[in-house]
Amino acid sequence: MPARRLSARWVLPMDGPAIEGGAALIDAGGRLAAVGPEAAVPRPEWAEAEDFPDALLLPGLVNTHTHLELSGFAAAAPEPDFAAWIRGVRARKAERGPEEYLAAARAGLAACHTAGVTTIADTGDSGAVVRALAEAGGSGVVYHEVFGPAPAQAGASMADLRRRMAELCRFAGGRVRLGVSPHAPYTVSGRLYSAVGQWARAEGLPLAVHLAESVAESALLADGTGEFAAAWGRRAIPLPDPLGHTPVQWLERHGVLGPDTLCIHVVRAGPSDIAQLAERGCAVAHCPRSNAAHGHGDAPLAALLEAGLRVGAGTDSVLSAGSLDLLAEARVARRLAGLDAPAALHLCTLAAAGALGLEREVGSLTPGKWADCVVVRPDPSRGADPAEQALASGPGDVVLTILGGRVVYRAGEAA
Ligand SMILES: [Zn+2]
Repeated sequence: MPARRLSARWVLPMDGPAIEGGAALIDAGGRLAAVGPEAAVPRPEWAEAEDFPDALLLPGLVNTHTHLELSGFAAAAPEPDFAAWIRGVRARKAERGPEEYLAAARAGLAACHTAGVTTIADTGDSGAVVRALAEAGGSGVVYHEVFGPAPAQAGASMADLRRRMAELCRFAGGRVRLGVSPHAPYTVSGRLYSAVGQWARAEGLPLAVHLAESVAESALLADGTGEFAAAWGRRAIPLPDPLGHTPVQWLERHGVLGPDTLCIHVVRAGPSDIAQLAERGCAVAHCPRSNAAHGHGDAPLAALLEAGLRVGAGTDSVLSAGSLDLLAEARVARRLAGLDAPAALHLCTLAAAGALGLEREVGSLTPGKWADCVVVRPDPSRGADPAEQALASGPGDVVLTILGGRVVYRAGEAA
C-alpha cells in the first residue's frame, strides 16, 4: 500500500480544533503518521500526495447501528403499529436466501463507504455482514442476533447461537469483531437474556440490545398489555414474569447491562433508568431519524449525555430511516439536545468510537490511529465555519473515503 499525503482547506481532526490549511500523512501500514498545519506535516517524496483546496478532511465516520443485511429491500413507510411492522420485516427476511443476504451486505457496506462511514456496528442474523466486512477488509463490530420470547425456547436458542457463532468466528479478526445481540425485550425471554449475558461475558463478546424503543415494549414489561403482549398471547407465550419493570430494569435484572453493552434507541428511559445505565457503564446508539419515523418519540439525548453515557449516532436500517446518512442523524441529534456543531460531529466520530470501545483505534485524525479519513466538499453557500459545513453535508458531498490507508470510495469512480 502506498504512503499517502492528503491536504485540504480545513482538517477537522476531532481530537482538537479545526486546522485551516491542514494535512495528514498516512504510512504504508495504513496508520496516521502526522496530522497538522500544512507546513508541519512532512512531505516525503515517496508518498502519493493529493490536495483538496476546497474541501474538508475528517476522520471516517462511525455508524453505531446498522442492519446492512436489510439493504435493498424496497423502502416502505414504517407503519404506526410497530409490532405489525416488525412482523412484516420478518416475513420479507424469510424470502431471502444466503446469496441474496451476502449481496445485500456488500451493497450496504458500499453505501456506508459512499457516505463516508468507515466503521459500523451492525446487528443481524444472516451472518452475511461479518463475511462482507471481512472480505472487504472493513472495520466494525457485528452482533449476531438471537431470538426466543418463550422461556422454554431458551436452551434451543442458546444452542443455535453457539453453533452460528462457531461458524462465523472465522470471519472475525483484525478490525472485524463479533458480538451477540439478544434482539429486544419483546423477542427475547428473561431466561434467554440471562443465558446470553452470562455466555457473552464468559466468551469476552460485546453485546447489543434494542432497548426501550416503543410504547408497546414498555407496556409488555410493565403490565402485560399492548401490541407485543397481544401478539405473545396469540402464540401462547407466557407474559414476562414478574411484570412491573421498565425495559432498562428488566435487562438489569437479567445481568445484561455492562460496559460492553450497546443499548440501541433508549427512547423510553426515565431518570432512574438513565442513572442505572450510567452506573453500569453502558453505551447508547442514538438513532433519532428511526425513532421519529416509527413514531417512538425523541430519546432523552441531553439527559443521556449529561449522565456521562457514551453515545454515538446510528442510522438503523434503511427500512426505518430511509438512508445511511449519518450526518443527517447528527443534525437531528443537535436539535434534540441543543448541541453545537462540533459536539454533533463528535456523535458520529470520536464519541461513536468510544461507544464501541474503539476510541484508541478510530474516530479522530490522531497519529497512531488507523488512517480512516473522509474528504467532503461542502456546498459553498453553507457559511464559513468548517464544522457547520461538515455537519450540513451528506453522502452526495463525499469526495473520497479512505479506510486503513486504502481508497474504498472515490466520487465519480465505479465501485
Ligand atoms: Zn435496529
